[in-house]
Amino acid sequence: MARRWVDVVMASPDPALSSHADLLIVGGGPAARSCATAYREHGGAGAVVLVSGDTALPYFRPALSKEYLRGESEEDEIALSTAKAYREQDIAVRLGSTVRTLDVSGRSATLADGTSLTYGDCVLATGAAPAALPVPGADDPRVRYLRSVDSARELRADVEKARTAVVVGSGFIGCEAAVSIARRGVRVTMISQEELPQQARLGAAAGARIAGWLSAEGVQLVGGAEVGSIEDAREVRADGADPVSADLVLVAAGVRPCSTLAESAGVRLEHDRVVVDDRMRSGVAGLFAAGDVAYAHNAAAGRHLMVEHWGEAEAMGAVAGANAAGGDEQWAQAPGFWSMIGDHTVKHVAWGDGYDEARMIGHRDGAFTVWYIADGIIVGVLTHNADEDYERGRELVEQGSRVTGAMAP
Ligand SMILES: Cc1cc2nc3c(=O)[nH]c(=O)nc-3n(C[C@H](O)[C@H](O)[C@H](O)COP(=O)(O)OP(=O)(O)OC[C@H]3O[C@@H](n4cnc5c(N)ncnc54)[C@H](O)[C@@H]3O)c2cc1C
Repeated sequence: MARRWVDVVMASPDPALSSHADLLIVGGGPAARSCATAYREHGGAGAVVLVSGDTALPYFRPALSKEYLRGESEEDEIALSTAKAYREQDIAVRLGSTVRTLDVSGRSATLADGTSLTYGDCVLATGAAPAALPVPGADDPRVRYLRSVDSARELRADVEKARTAVVVGSGFIGCEAAVSIARRGVRVTMISQEELPQQARLGAAAGARIAGWLSAEGVQLVGGAEVGSIEDAREVRADGADPVSADLVLVAAGVRPCSTLAESAGVRLEHDRVVVDDRMRSGVAGLFAAGDVAYAHNAAAGRHLMVEHWGEAEAMGAVAGANAAGGDEQWAQAPGFWSMIGDHTVKHVAWGDGYDEARMIGHRDGAFTVWYIADGIIVGVLTHNADEDYERGRELVEQGSRVTGAMAP
């Protein structure tokens, strides 16, 4: 294999990057990494350049709200592979650098430092960023948001000095982070629009279980409260609740896809995401998208899905990389993720675009399964310590099976 793009480089300009990439990958998360690897595994022999806005080589982002925030792992332990591994695969990585413009008809890209390069194929794997809370004070730089290892390092340093914290938002990242922070001896208040954590996504019964786990960890939940402002990065004011003051405020109010680059290149977006088929191809020749930024068609679902999960980003990236190398791979698995809220693991597989009934079945010792049903069809399953249901549930969801009497509470 020709060795043309072998350096893992930091933000400083590298003359080697100024001409051509057979495969240009924009992003440095799981979709980008698995794309590069799959391209090589499927015989892609061209020059691969991965340009990442992250300052570290691709790492295990889910750890940032869990082990890393609890101080149980360090940055070098969450890296997915070493610089040597990228060199061995002949994958050039440029860190701390962003692609600013894309000319999709001329197949060229310009980086923030002015470097430009032409490409054969380009994969957009720009992921998502925390959604800013649209209220006064939420953009104060001392208010924390969590996505990158840089943001996690800052949050962790604040947690180490704090006695009290407010977490705004009760999604998975909010719940995981709240418990991790509480385990460091900090008194945590969670303020959430929803009455119960993740009630809209997972249903009230699952929300009540999660609320119980938070409470057992000392996290005080203030549900049904709409944040109106954050004063001086320390006091959160919400309708329907007393103001809460704390040493640190973390906002975990969901994410928004990073699709500005695609949008300015004139690429078709829906729901703010790049529309791609089940082979991750956009309508533009030579342009793919994968991961959180993609609105991808799922072959088994028969429709496009909005997905923000680690494993799915890896799967979509692998499909894009294989197809850029001349393969013919499809994204056809039901999307799934695991979340760890303290010692409680939940596993979820679902198409993720709605249900009309959530049926919880309790098992022994606090274990449970929730079946999600739409028009009599199983469209999702959530389990806690019920792995058999999780495995079976994946098959049932992918097959579009009808609900049975055995799934009655
Ligand atoms: C704290 C935390 C915990 C999580 N826990 C879980 C979990 O337990 N389970 C789960 O399934 N999911 C979890 N997730 C979600 C999961 O991490 C994401 O779904 C996944 O990272 C998406 O991967 P991606 O490759 O699409 O994008 P990202 O991982 O977001 O990576 C995007 C990359 O693109 C780069 N980028 C953006 N724009 C540009 C540009 N113009 N030029 C160059 N680079 C650019 C960014 O710097 C970044 O490197 C968690 C997320 C966070 C933040």
